[in-house]
Amino acid sequence: MTGERRQETARIVDAELQDACAACGGPIAARFSPGAIRGVCLSCHLVTTIKVARGKGGVQLGHLPGGLA
Ligand SMILES: [Zn+2]
Repeated sequence: MTGERRQETARIVDAELQDACAACGGPIAARFSPGAIRGVCLSCHLVTTIKVARGKGGVQLGHLPGGLA
């Protein structure tokens, strides 16, 4: 026994998506969660939800309406 413990964390990864903002084309700080990505634009602060769908061609991302405040 070593005291090493594997840390189980939720599958949430933060990333920055360049040129991903639908409104201004700015970078979006994204938080990945199962099935969707929540993000906020670093330029105009647009809050967006990006749906993640697995298709035949791989993972597809799509902006969902309703993030506009
Ligand atoms: Zn923006």
